[in-house]
Amino acid sequence: MERPRITIFDTTLRDGEQSPGCSMNVQEKLRLAQQLDRLGVDVIEAGFPIASDGDFEAVQSIAASLRRPIIAGLARACTGDVDRAWQALQGAARPRIHVFLATSDIHLKYKLRITREKCLEQARDAVRHAKSLCPDVEFSPEDATRTDVAFLCQVVEAAIAAGATTVNIPDTVGYSMPEEYGNLIRTLREKVAGIDKVTISTHCHNDLGLAVANSLAGVQAGARQVECAINGIGERAGNASLEEIVMAMRVRPDRYPYETAIAGEHLYPSSQMLAEITRVPVQPNKAIIGRNAFAHEAGIHQDGMLKNPLTYEIMTPQSVGVPDSRLVLGKHSGRHALALRCEQLGHQFERRELDEIYRRFVVLADRIKKVQDSHLLELIQDVASGNVSSDVTGSKGKKFPPAAATLQFPRAVSAAAGANASDSHPAQVSGSAGQASVSIPFTDHHSEQEDYLWGV
Ligand SMILES: [Zn+2]
Repeated sequence: MERPRITIFDTTLRDGEQSPGCSMNVQEKLRLAQQLDRLGVDVIEAGFPIASDGDFEAVQSIAASLRRPIIAGLARACTGDVDRAWQALQGAARPRIHVFLATSDIHLKYKLRITREKCLEQARDAVRHAKSLCPDVEFSPEDATRTDVAFLCQVVEAAIAAGATTVNIPDTVGYSMPEEYGNLIRTLREKVAGIDKVTISTHCHNDLGLAVANSLAGVQAGARQVECAINGIGERAGNASLEEIVMAMRVRPDRYPYETAIAGEHLYPSSQMLAEITRVPVQPNKAIIGRNAFAHEAGIHQDGMLKNPLTYEIMTPQSVGVPDSRLVLGKHSGRHALALRCEQLGHQFERRELDEIYRRFVVLADRIKKVQDSHLLELIQDVASGNVSSDVTGSKGKKFPPAAATLQFPRAVSAAAGANASDSHPAQVSGSAGQASVSIPFTDHHSEQEDYLWGV
């Protein structure tokens, strides 16, 4: 059975770039646009040409360099904006003018200070003008979800009659609930003349954490384009996260039987590139592409993962471009995971040796939270050389080189590491905590069964 194809409209470079701290220069935008092309997005909203010369230039250079995706330029519903957008799109193989106009009473009254009649006329005129320049025209009634539904139907119908080929229904302020948003799309499909000839699009903000849920509800109700951004960046709490939308459909085709052209293995590299360019890090627990999205630390989880990844993984890290599922070695790790990591580092141990390594490992992990390979190697060396000291903080003062820069949690140092280790980076502990007394009750972790209980 053929699945309906969903157009992925990426607005990382426009809505995303409007988020605090995410501004990019022309070169950076071009670099990211090339990555979005590799990722396989259908439409790249490259900017808002009238907003600034930088935006104009970015749209122009992206339009000139990418041939496959549609390149969209944003414009308010007025001649000057539409003309400027069209000018920036001159070099594009597949240009799109995206016209928007607020339609909710609150925006009409306080922001635009125009009547509904004037709004209707302005939308119609701007779309008609855009259509006279470009065959591909998208219209967005801004704040659609807080617009009187009958009036929204009227405006959308007028935009379609004037030549819009895509109508986008923005939940501009992230106010909608999934069922409500789905119902709005259904209502438009029932009431608006000509809507079956255009593509309906979603554009959902994440102010209540529902951007992805609302977008998916829109798709189920008949929308066939989703506007979204890498890492979910966008105004305020952000836009719908591209990677979450795509993977929700891919992991659950039983519920969302739709196709996209996204190359999953480019999701993580795209996310990394955006974070690198904007220097806005991704939250560690961010779905799909966060640093912990495929990390398993709890012993029972690690054991299951090693036996069969399907026990705790609903998708493989490789399917989204994450190099490997990382088994983070921390104090909740069991012997099995520790033994495997030792093996990967080229060391195999008898049960008794492993017991000793494990015992020291738990003490260390309690102190520095995340045990790096370098730490483990030192520990192995100590045990192998018969160093009987149970104080893994070391008596030689050279133990445990600074943890990698990725170890960012200031509170990672446990109280067991002593008072002189109470601040900032665990690395600072390594040279100075030699006298720290360790109070982990080793006997609590002797059997494997108990190890695994830590992670339940
Ligand atoms: Zn937006």
